[in-house]
Amino acid sequence: MAEKIVLFGGTFDPIHIGHIEVASAAAEKIGAGEIILIPARRSPHKNLKPLAPDNDRIAMMKLAVEDKSLFEINPVELNRAEPSYTIDTIRQLKQSLGGDCILYWLIGADMLESLPKWHKIDELLNECNICVMNRGGFEKPDFDKLAPQLGSKNIEKLRKNVVETPSIEISSTQIRRKILNNEDVSKYLHPEVLNYIKIRRLYAATD
Ligand code: ATP
Repeated sequence: MAEKIVLFGGTFDPIHIGHIEVASAAAEKIGAGEIILIPARRSPHKNLKPLAPDNDRIAMMKLAVEDKSLFEINPVELNRAEPSYTIDTIRQLKQSLGGDCILYWLIGADMLESLPKWHKIDELLNECNICVMNRGGFEKPDFDKLAPQLGSKNIEKLRKNVVETPSIEISSTQIRRKILNNEDVSKYLHPEVLNYIKIRRLYAATD
């Protein structure tokens, strides 16, 4: 039987327990034997600064999953020249993983609206299963709204692939903001990740 593999891309700046919980729950629902975390290149303009360098983001990801056998980290997008398109990542991974696997790419509901603008979206929807997860603090996914852009066949596929995951109201932006304000973030992070952030003084105010 073809192996099912969950792929989870994000900036993970920093990786938080929401990421781990929803990815684990999704893999269980899907029946996947592996979860590959794919750190994304980060837009320096989009986020609240300061942000962490790539090597720190990866180090934190390693700490967050070191006791979880299902998880792997693959820096395929950081190692590839820009621009960074998900379709290229999927094709590259298919080659390296071998043909006999079914890929599931997870996205939080907050990402759904941007999906029609993703590069070669029709091909992407054909070549992997995009699985939308509900996200605490965000609206439920509104698929009808996207039908004119994506077409009814794609919408049906997206609907079928929704994975029910626990609702966890956490975002990396919120965590970075709290650290900047010296607020406690211990309940959002793996203890080793928190320790790493403290030692490396990440996300702290600089003058
Ligand atoms: P930021 O606040 O910096 O945008 P983020 O918390 O959204 O960060 P990302 O690394 O950008 O985290 O997210 C990676 C993926 O994880 C995205 O598809 C996002 O929708 C999803 N995601 C992040 N946090 C949650 C959560 N609490 N519940 C469900 N999905 C989530």
